[in-house]
Amino acid sequence: MSSAIYPGSFDPITYGHIDILRRAKKLFSRLLIAIVANPNKAPLFSVSERVGITKETLAEVKICGVEVISYDGLLIECAKVNGVDAIVRGLRANSDFDYEFQMALTNRDLDSEIETVFFMTAGKYSFLSSSIVKEVKHYGGEVSSFVPKTVEDALARKFESLE
Ligand code: ADP
Repeated sequence: MSSAIYPGSFDPITYGHIDILRRAKKLFSRLLIAIVANPNKAPLFSVSERVGITKETLAEVKICGVEVISYDGLLIECAKVNGVDAIVRGLRANSDFDYEFQMALTNRDLDSEIETVFFMTAGKYSFLSSSIVKEVKHYGGEVSSFVPKTVEDALARKFESLE
């Protein structure tokens, strides 16, 4: 069986990410979450906080056997160093497509042995993103249908510390 890396900002992890993870786990015998240290958008949580929250969340939702690592620099190098066969990404609305298309083609150019595999979002999570969750929580809204308790608590602590 093959192995895959699921890269992203995970700032923070949501039920949308978790849905992709559960489905990818059925196809790949080894799965790693790779959290990018310095995403394009300034993250709310530091990389070590994101790694910690993600690990705690996996325990909360009872997903075992998924490694959580962080990386800086080129994703394809991280994929090679970890000896995986594939990169997992999720697709939501049309707006994801251009960026994902460009990234998948660039990564294939850099290493044609590593395939990018896309999972279509679940209907109920198609509008869910880490940014939306942060915005809703920031303004005091209810986020329990978007993220597990671990994440909800981490968001509450973070916004409290920023006040
Ligand atoms: P990035 O900054 O690399 O996009 P994210 O953490 O926002 O990092 O997303 C990581 C991956 O998870 C991306 O492929 C994204 O499309 C996917 N993803 C995020 N939320 C959802 C969702 N609700 N449904 C499906 N895929 C999702």
